[in-house]
Amino acid sequence: MTARILDGAAVAAGIRARVAGRVAELATQGVVPRLEVILVGDDPASRVYVGSKARACLEVGVRSSTQSLPAATTGEELAARIEALNGDPDVDGILLQLPLPPPLDGRRFLDLIDPGKDVDGFHPRNVGLLQQGRPAFVPCTPGGVMELLDASGVVLQGAHAVVVGRSDIVGKPMAALLLQRHATVTVCHSRTRDLPGVCRLADVLVAAVGRAALVGGEHVNPGAVVVDVGVNRVEDAALVERLFPGDEGRRAQLAKRGYTLVGDVDFTAASRVASAITPVPGGIGPLTIAGLLLNTVRAARQRRGLPC
Ligand code: NDP
Repeated sequence: MTARILDGAAVAAGIRARVAGRVAELATQGVVPRLEVILVGDDPASRVYVGSKARACLEVGVRSSTQSLPAATTGEELAARIEALNGDPDVDGILLQLPLPPPLDGRRFLDLIDPGKDVDGFHPRNVGLLQQGRPAFVPCTPGGVMELLDASGVVLQGAHAVVVGRSDIVGKPMAALLLQRHATVTVCHSRTRDLPGVCRLADVLVAAVGRAALVGGEHVNPGAVVVDVGVNRVEDAALVERLFPGDEGRRAQLAKRGYTLVGDVDFTAASRVASAITPVPGGIGPLTIAGLLLNTVRAARQRRGLPC
């Protein structure tokens, strides 16, 4: 079997067009949504992510700016910055880019963000609302996965979904969203016994682990839908050749940049067994950004008492 490719980039383009329409409609009421991003320190990957988010905002007509703070920012300074944005009526969404440089503890500062401006959906209030199946800001990556599954016609009701990974950012909210849609959900983590055996029970398998190609063909139930959330930089030429045999594009990328991006799934092996699979890159990454745009427009509407 050769799996159908689930084209996250195409679905994300559709969402961006939908958001642009909603932004245009809001503009007729004099509202232009505004997202403020706080970036602390100079983690290169974070800079790239923040840049992509800013560009995506610009493209759909959402105002956005980034407040870049030095790595030596104190907890008090960061807290004051968040409080100022909470109190600014012109700000609809606040995004604190993670990870924070030590000793700053991300969770402490996420807790300070006004839940009504929490477009990442990480505040405990939104986490609780999501668990209860009530309207909430849904974390962007699992929200994006749901958009992709729906756009691809994947039936969730009654299906067995296995999520590998239990982080607050991806695994747990992913499980909550799948459960809400009446899937039977199993969550795996680093202490799960017989990971391949549990994964093989899945009709829908979501990998969010952060280990390049951990999920191989032996983890996949024949005909399953495989969603690969992972993004890992791989620099080892032998590993790249094993994962993508004869792939000139990958070889060229490795030679040019010194790395290539690989998911948590061994794409070549898994796509021989799955019925549908997301690629990396071009799978979930673009949907995460689209999810952020959806949440920002939602925040702008909600704060003005407009229906969401
Ligand atoms: P975390 O490191 O926070 O969580 C990883 C999870 O994987 C943990 O629950 C951990 O278990 C589990 N795990 C680790 N090793 C194993 C193993 N050998 N077997 C089974 N489970 C294991 O990662 P995130 O959830 O933040 O991110 C996961 C991946 O998704 C990363 O590659 C990240 O880059 C990517 N990502 C991609 C995004 C996108 O836009 N495409 C957005 C966000 C993340 P335990 O809890 O027991 O430690």
